[in-house]
Amino acid sequence: MKVGIVGAGVAGLAAARVLREAGHEVAIFEGRDEVGGQVVTFPVGGEELECFYHHIFTSDTTVIRYIEELGLGPYLRWIEPRNAHFVRGRMYPFVTPLDLLRFTAIPLASRIRLGLAALWLRRRADGVQRYEGITAREWMLRAVGQKAFDAFWGPLLKGKFADQADQVGMVWLWNKIHLRFASRKGGSSKEVLGYLEGSFKRYYRALADRLEAQGVTIRLETPVEQVAVEAGRVAGLRAGGAFHACDAILLTVPNVIALRIAPDLPPDYRATLQRVRYQWATCLVLALDRPLTPYYWLSIGDDLPFVACIEHTNFMPPERYGGNHLVYLSNYTAPDHPVLRMDADEVFEHYLDGIRKLNPAFDRAWVREKWFFKDPGGQPVITTHYSRSIPDMRTGIDGLYLSNTSQVYPEDRGQNYSLLLGEKVARLMHEDALQTARSRGAGI
Ligand SMILES: Cc1cc2nc3c(=O)[nH]c(=O)nc-3n(C[C@H](O)[C@H](O)[C@H](O)COP(=O)(O)OP(=O)(O)OC[C@H]3O[C@@H](n4cnc5c(N)ncnc54)[C@H](O)[C@@H]3O)c2cc1C
Repeated sequence: MKVGIVGAGVAGLAAARVLREAGHEVAIFEGRDEVGGQVVTFPVGGEELECFYHHIFTSDTTVIRYIEELGLGPYLRWIEPRNAHFVRGRMYPFVTPLDLLRFTAIPLASRIRLGLAALWLRRRADGVQRYEGITAREWMLRAVGQKAFDAFWGPLLKGKFADQADQVGMVWLWNKIHLRFASRKGGSSKEVLGYLEGSFKRYYRALADRLEAQGVTIRLETPVEQVAVEAGRVAGLRAGGAFHACDAILLTVPNVIALRIAPDLPPDYRATLQRVRYQWATCLVLALDRPLTPYYWLSIGDDLPFVACIEHTNFMPPERYGGNHLVYLSNYTAPDHPVLRMDADEVFEHYLDGIRKLNPAFDRAWVREKWFFKDPGGQPVITTHYSRSIPDMRTGIDGLYLSNTSQVYPEDRGQNYSLLLGEKVARLMHEDALQTARSRGAGI
């Protein structure tokens, strides 16, 4: 089978690997000038850094498997991060269970409810069945009360999902808490997070190199313009001004792009894709001459124009990055948000008061460099009864398949699940090809 894969993110690469190993001829078409998709990196101080903050949990066993199979295990570091929550103008550390008791922004009774709710959710393995029909807001309000909700979960949901926050299903939040509590090592009460020295680019670049050595073609800077369908079956795709005949095509792009480049998708399938809403992800990255905060992950409970401040060099040492202190100011926005039309300087000016709230001594002279990154498929909005909204991998057009983050459920989108989806869809494509060959009485 001649397979065209649209997108060289981790799902596209994982699918290519399985399909190639099954003996198919595989070509990947990627719009950008490098593989990696949302795990894309840029150079800073002689080292690669993700444009969007990235770490892994101990439960991300598929990413770990890829890293080890590619011989990169020695570069994987497991680190206890220093996390905190910023609310009412103060940073409250959130590392050990005791920190919750010291969270004096809310009364003691609210703190206890906050802690008990987290413990309860951590122990629930059946969250999908239990929580499919209830929103995170409803469940949390009931469990922790208004004060704790307003100081903690409310702003976090709002920050991540903006005007969609009240629609987010409890399954999404349950799984997030469940997985984060599970990311421990050796019975420790502290969370550990994994990071690949030299950035995650190390493993997906190594994977791309291995795929090319095995005969997979990777065409960079070749955006797919349109998928061609003839008599209800995939015929090929048009990319970079040329036509490429294919027996099967896999789309790994977000739904909005799939809808645009595959105009022949059946109406029911189009409707399913359209139902899933996405928030754009944005990150303003600052290279500073000194630290901004003492924390790696600082979630924001106050009304600031960003939802998290992730200080990468409080996780990996600044010396790796030419002495730069690297800070992500992360936000998620609706597709029509004005910040999406700004450049890095404008976003910085827009965020400046907020940055000073985190560190009143902050001076713009601390900034050596700044970058602004955005992605339209940043975060699918996981609503109640989301299991009914998940698009099928088979699109309804013979030979045309889809694998993207809108199919990750009940977990939150992450490299681990994109790799698994890529592998799963590739096996499905192979089985379908075998089936077709059998029915035609031919080989593939
Ligand atoms: C802000 C942010 C933070 C994250 N943090 C983490 C984290 O800490 N840990 C973690 O594990 N995961 C994290 N993730 C999630 C992780 O990055 C994704 O789950 C994963 O990268 C998605 O991979 P994918 O291959 O499904 O999609 P994508 O990475 O979106 O790949 C799709 C590819 O298609 C390409 N493309 C688009 N249109 C076309 C076209 N017309 N023709 C050809 N190519 C096209 C794109 O350029 C892209 O390369 C984060 C994501 C974001 C946005």
